[in-house]
Amino acid sequence: MKEPLLKIESLKKAFPTGKDLFGRGKREVVAVNDLTLNVFKGETIGIVGESGCGKSTLGRLILRLIDATSGRVTYSSEDLFSLKKREMQRIRKNMQMVFQDPYASLNPRHSVAKILEEPLIVHQMGTKQERKDKTAEMLKIVGLNPDYASRYPHQFSGGQKQRIGIARALMTNPELIIADEPVSALDVSIQSQVLNLLKDLQKEFSLTYLFISHDLGVVRHISDRVAVMYLGEIAELADSDSLYEKPLHPYTEALLSAVPSSDPSAKRERILLKGEPPNPEKPPEGCAFHTRCPKAFDKCRKIKPLLTKQKEGHYAACHLYE
Ligand code: SF4
Repeated sequence: MKEPLLKIESLKKAFPTGKDLFGRGKREVVAVNDLTLNVFKGETIGIVGESGCGKSTLGRLILRLIDATSGRVTYSSEDLFSLKKREMQRIRKNMQMVFQDPYASLNPRHSVAKILEEPLIVHQMGTKQERKDKTAEMLKIVGLNPDYASRYPHQFSGGQKQRIGIARALMTNPELIIADEPVSALDVSIQSQVLNLLKDLQKEFSLTYLFISHDLGVVRHISDRVAVMYLGEIAELADSDSLYEKPLHPYTEALLSAVPSSDPSAKRERILLKGEPPNPEKPPEGCAFHTRCPKAFDKCRKIKPLLTKQKEGHYAACHLYE
């Protein structure tokens, strides 16, 4: 069996939110709860769910931009949470992030050259000339004119800025890219250009992607496998074809029913979920989804379903499949 490039085991992140109404005890929001997932070299795994489901927190935990409450993340057999700051810095050059908002993620006072050279300087890579050459090469690779290196972020469109963000992430020759909603701030017409660029770059540089998005439609075009998250946990995990053609979890079914089908003759009935996701400070007993699930039954209100294998590569956490 192939060893995963990234192994996430029982990962948990709880954010303290203060004391309860009577000034007693500790309140907390569990953003990621007991999450286990393997990511294999060269694959794209989509992480999908509504806002607040913990998907972005997961990306930040992996890169140790925030500390986990418990659990383990192993990258290329190295236990990331036991590494000293310096050692983590060494690993970080192999794991880079592309952020959601290309407007906010580029320093407006820095030229493109400075923005792209910065990761190389941080990781002490290359001479001044080599960094300059790499900047020009990378701009070309992401479809921008190398002469743009002297320009500033405000001189670019949203799609071009995201190309710069992607170029910055690739400067250190990483193996793993964590892309957090990389196209959601872009116009629909630009989204597919950036997704195609990411796919081309994956082939060219043998990249592994963890692609975080609230939009199952976007994730489909790029992912080999998809993990659907609800309230900090994985509700369903499957390869893209199985998940889109035969979703098992009622939450996935509801999310998919809102995605326009590429086949205009295929009719999909829209499933409207009741209410908002529950308050993560007080998650419901039993299945976290039972307060909104159109298929909930008695057991769902009392007993939490476990993520179990339904068929090869397809897992769901739902009592309907026990
Ligand atoms: Fe719905 Fe019950 Fe399955 Fe939860 S366990 S998704 S409430 S049917």
